[in-house]
This record gives sequence, C-alpha cells and structure tokens, in this order.
Amino acid sequence: MITKQNYHSPKIGFVSLGCPKAGSDSEKMLSKIKAEGYEIAQNYHDSELVIVNTCGFIDSAVEESLDAISEAIDKNGKVIVTGCLGERREVIEKRFDNLLAITGSEAYKEVMDAVHMHAPKPIDPHIDLIPPQGVRLTPKHYAYIKISEGCNHTCTFCIIPSMRGKLVSRPIGEIMQEAENLVRSGVSELIIISQDTSAYGVDMKYRPSFWNGRPIKSDLYHLAKNLSQLGVWVRFHYVYPYPNVDNLITLMAEGNILPYIDVPFQHASPEILKSMKRPANAENNLERIVGWRKICPDIVIRSTFIVGFPGETDEQFENLIEFLEQAKLDRVGCFMYSNVEGAVANTISGQVESDIKQARLDRLMNVQKRISQKKLSEKVGSIQTVIVDEISKDFAVARSYANAPEIDGVIFLENPSGLEAGDMLDVKIKSSEDYDLYAGPK
Ligand code: SF4
Repeated sequence: MITKQNYHSPKIGFVSLGCPKAGSDSEKMLSKIKAEGYEIAQNYHDSELVIVNTCGFIDSAVEESLDAISEAIDKNGKVIVTGCLGERREVIEKRFDNLLAITGSEAYKEVMDAVHMHAPKPIDPHIDLIPPQGVRLTPKHYAYIKISEGCNHTCTFCIIPSMRGKLVSRPIGEIMQEAENLVRSGVSELIIISQDTSAYGVDMKYRPSFWNGRPIKSDLYHLAKNLSQLGVWVRFHYVYPYPNVDNLITLMAEGNILPYIDVPFQHASPEILKSMKRPANAENNLERIVGWRKICPDIVIRSTFIVGFPGETDEQFENLIEFLEQAKLDRVGCFMYSNVEGAVANTISGQVESDIKQARLDRLMNVQKRISQKKLSEKVGSIQTVIVDEISKDFAVARSYANAPEIDGVIFLENPSGLEAGDMLDVKIKSSEDYDLYAGPK
C-alpha cells in the first residue's frame, strides 16, 4: 500500500539576513516551501540546497551576506541567493561563479522555480492530482511547449499584444525541466510554440538560467541545442525570418532538431507587409529561403498567408502568387482577411469585396496544390521515418518530420496490424496525392 511515509520530502536549508522586511520575505518563502511539501533543514549537511536571503543596505551588510553565501557553498555547495544583494548581481558574480540562481528581493516565484529545478517538488499521491508533466490535451506521444507569452510587435490585424501584453519569455531552465518531464512520461515529439519564437529571450536579455546544475543562455539557439539532447523529435513553430534563425537551420542540417520550420510570412508584397506592420517586413524572404535551403537542403518550410488585406490590389496579390511560385514552400495555409474587433487594420481604407477575397484564396490554394503535388510525387520510392498518430481497421495515420500534427497532410500506412499510436518506424512511400502520401513496409 502507498503510504505518505514512502515519499521522500527534500529538505531545504534557509539562511535569513537583514531587516524585518527581509525577514518577512523569508517567512513568505518558508511558508511556500512548507506548503509544497518540502521540509526545512536544521543544518547544511541535511539540505538538498540552501537559500540565502541577503541584505545589501550598507557595506557591512554586504560583507555579512557574502560571508553567508561563502559558508553555504563550503558546507553544502548548492546555493540560491535572493534578497536585496541579489539586485546587485555583479557584486555576487564577482565572488561566486557556481551558484544555482541569483534573484532579487520579493522574487518568490523565481526562487521557487529554482528550488523546483534543483530539488524536485515532492509528489504526494493523496493530494497531488497533477503529474509532473502537467495535464495534457494531446496524445501521449507528442506535446506542445509554450516558451513565451505575449508579443512585442504591433501587426495591424492582430489584437494579441493588447490582450496578452508584451513578450515575457520563460527561463530556459524551466522550459528544459518541462521538456524533460514530458520525455520521461513517454513523449517522442516536442513542438515549440509561442507568438514569436525568434524573439525568445529578448525581454530578459537572454539571461541564463540553470538546468541540471548548468547555466544556459536563454536564447533560441541554446534552447534548440539543449532540447536536441533529450533524444526526441523537436519541431519549431512561428519563427520569423530574422538573421539569427540561420543558426537554427544549421542545427537542423546537423540533425539536432527536425528540419522543419513554420514561418508565418502572411504576404509577399512589401507594401502590404508594411501596412500589416509585420516583423521582419524589410527582409528579403526569398533570399532567406534560398539561404536556408543551401544550409539544409532537406528543410520543409510551412507558412500561412492572408489574402484580401485592406488595400490589397490585383498587382500586390500577383506579387504574392509570384512569391509562392518561386519559393515553392512545402506547406501553405491561407485565410481571407476579416476585421477583428479592436484591430488597427479595420480602419485601413480599401476593404476588399468578399467575392474577390474568395477568388484570391481559391487561386492561391490552386497554385499551392500544384506545387505540393509535385513535391510529394518526388517522395515516391523514398524511405521515411514516421511516427504513428492513429490506427483504424484498414490503415494507420502517420507523419514524418515533414508533417506537423493537426495542420499538415499525413502519411497513410497500409496493414496497420501490430502498430500502436506513438510507434516509430521506417516505411516506403508508394504513392502521393495533393497533400498526403501513402506508404507500405520498407
Ligand atoms: S507577431 Fe504580429 S500577428 Fe503575431 S502575435 Fe505579434 S502582433 Fe500578433
């Protein structure tokens, strides 16, 4: 029988320095630590890690704090520094380069995040109904990880920044911990999402955070590099075509992450992109795509477009068609523009008639259908590694690296007997349609 005593509660050491305000902060942190099921250690030796709540008011207080940190490192080794002196990070970093985390005063959440990362939260099956990987709505074998919330851009058709605020990135250590928990729970494919994935870490000036005791820079490249070490498929969505993305493509070429990128271009006419206020609207996207394919010839590029944006002329729409003909993207989604309450674009003159929008959408999708047909027909005869999503009586639905779940085409597998959702296997592509492939045994 499971009893509460079977569960080991990690012990946390705590050193509190400074004024009553700092003391009150310490009480809050200690309460949170206890409420989560940790125990408070009475000595350094029994502690999984030690939190030092510092004071930095006058020189003598700074010295006392630095001495306390030094003692905790000598006697335990795993130390989180918080409090007033934490605001003066450079003073601490000058003396110590081996701390688990440094946070400022009242940074309760950051302190608890660091505690969770280095002394996993105790699980009590009697009260803890949520597993470490969290509650998930996706099948067991793939999962989405949101790496930031909000957005610093002001696209005129979008109200997300006014609803969700400016970009707030999650510390990389927290993301890595979530990813590790998911992989432990059986996930074989991690799908990275956010409003603007290329901007990851900008808001926190790429400040490093800790994972497995190592500091890692919170930027897109290091995120991809570290996720690749978990030994599962890693797929990136909503990446804007900034120059820093080339590093990500290099990781794809080296086989670290899936050579698949979802870049919401939305249009190709420079005037429309400007009117949309799209991020990276001054970039030459065709040149960038050519560059990406040079670095990673197998890359699969997905994008979405909006037709009928206010003021879109026939000529600007033709620009978009010309772009598609040249870019030969692998996957394309398209939407007709429509006003969203509160969006700036509603006030742009030249709203496009709905029958024109519909005709443009149909034309664009026809062009893309032809491109997709040709690209998929070139896959016939090739061997692809696939992951199985669903099984029915006569066939299984699977995907290769080239298909993101729920939005792209699929690969239908004949003879599904013996297969289960989540299985990975090599198959031979036998035939193709507009957006889907058919495969059999290798
Ligand atoms: S990048 Fe543009 S479309 Fe995307 S969330 Fe930000 S403002 Fe909206």
